[in-house]
Amino acid sequence: MNSPASLEQLIAALRCLPGVGPKSAVRMAYYLLQRDRKGASALAQALDIALQVVSHCELCNTFSETPVCPMCASGKREDSMLCVVEMPTDMMLMEQTQAYNGMYYVLMGRLSHLDGIGPKEIHLDKLITRAQAGNVQEVILAQNYTVEGEATAHYISELLGKHGIRISRIARGMPMGGEIEHVDAGTLAQAMLECRCVS
Ligand code: ZN
Repeated sequence: MNSPASLEQLIAALRCLPGVGPKSAVRMAYYLLQRDRKGASALAQALDIALQVVSHCELCNTFSETPVCPMCASGKREDSMLCVVEMPTDMMLMEQTQAYNGMYYVLMGRLSHLDGIGPKEIHLDKLITRAQAGNVQEVILAQNYTVEGEATAHYISELLGKHGIRISRIARGMPMGGEIEHVDAGTLAQAMLECRCVS
């Protein structure tokens, strides 16, 4: 017996989530329709609204409901420094350390041969434009010390170096293979203080 077409459609749609295969997609769909219709409705609504209103900040590229996010628009940040991080969560963690008061640029990813993510996919052209704009004097690369994070930082430093921009790399105070989100605020703050110049 075939499932209703709309159910099949829901199952197929759920598979756009990372790591969700055919079996988990079926489980999720059954759960939403059988066990938590309220939750399902809230999810549908939240997705719909987020898709309509959330875009990327023109300056730092993080998620934002306004063309320029509140942090970039605040006018209270040191605009000569630009810290490049992988994800918005890294930016939030960096903020928690209170060790940095400059501007950010969020890549929304990292270079990854395995996943087919190249310089184009993470819009490095937008980063170059940003790094050359305004009052930026120094770019701090705060990529994770993972193989992909290192490769990304290396690529960016080569790229920005060609444009004569001063570049620093967050210190290795972070554990090897360390992702920023698994590092405590104190260690991260220290790593920021010990930034070393790479250009
Ligand atoms: Zn912004």
